[in-house]
Amino acid sequence: MSDLSNSQMLHTLLDDESLLILLFHGVVENENAFGVRNYNKKHISIQKFERSLINLLKNGGTPIDTSQMYGFLNGKLRIKKPFLVTFDDGFKNNLTIAAPILQDLGIPWILYLTEDFVMKNEMSWVDVIDSLVENTDRTNLIYDQIEYSLETVYLKINFLNYIRNKYKNQYFSYSQLINQLKLILKVTKENRVDEIDEKLTFAECCLLKNKYCVELGAHTKTHRVLGNLNADEQYEEIVSSTRFLKEITGCNPINFAYPEGHDKAFNATTLKLLEEFGYQSSPTAMEGINFRHADFFRLNRVMVI
Ligand SMILES: [Zn+2]
Repeated sequence: MSDLSNSQMLHTLLDDESLLILLFHGVVENENAFGVRNYNKKHISIQKFERSLINLLKNGGTPIDTSQMYGFLNGKLRIKKPFLVTFDDGFKNNLTIAAPILQDLGIPWILYLTEDFVMKNEMSWVDVIDSLVENTDRTNLIYDQIEYSLETVYLKINFLNYIRNKYKNQYFSYSQLINQLKLILKVTKENRVDEIDEKLTFAECCLLKNKYCVELGAHTKTHRVLGNLNADEQYEEIVSSTRFLKEITGCNPINFAYPEGHDKAFNATTLKLLEEFGYQSSPTAMEGINFRHADFFRLNRVMVI
């Protein structure tokens, strides 16, 4: 992550000729309160969240919604220093903490929802493995013929980064990996931490739309990396999450976001399917700003840390 994603440097990315799209996942009282959990700062502190947004407004930034985004990127709309706020996944703290702050600041935002996170209150596989490593009593282990010490938070994070990188670009079974790690780490069950693990309910998604006027977009059914799936599996992920969004909003969604959002998170099949379903854009999690006439299915975002 570059220095530009630092909450105090964001305003340097504002420009009349480009669009800054911010990527958030969650907002909590204190981002450092969770040990190994939240080590990658997926959930940021309220103070940092507010400070970063106020700083953008003070520096002349114009918060926009997605229809203004299309107008601006198409070259039909002139907007001074535009920025768009996006949230991924569907954490409950988006409603309890982020929504009132954004409303007070008059900032529109879009939330990309993962269907199973909402309908089953599921944890993502990375959140589960973070929890298993956090709660293990083992001080070392051998994995892929490499010895890892787990004696400190730093060393646990080192092991987690290895696992994340290993599975980033490959097809694998989440449940098999989690069961394997439970055995190795001698932890029977993940430990849920409400502040960072609770997801929105279906009713709360409706509330966000109706009370807070939040735009909602699709983010697949299970949050698997589309680029690692075959065409039938990708179809299932997209058709199911499209139906889910329509149940909440009554309309066919046109905004999508790829799970994980890295350069292998989607492929030609993904793009074809999204077009067939009527989607008009999908941001990635690749860092950068967006110039006019950018590819709407390769939009860059900046994750605030
Ligand atoms: Zn996601």
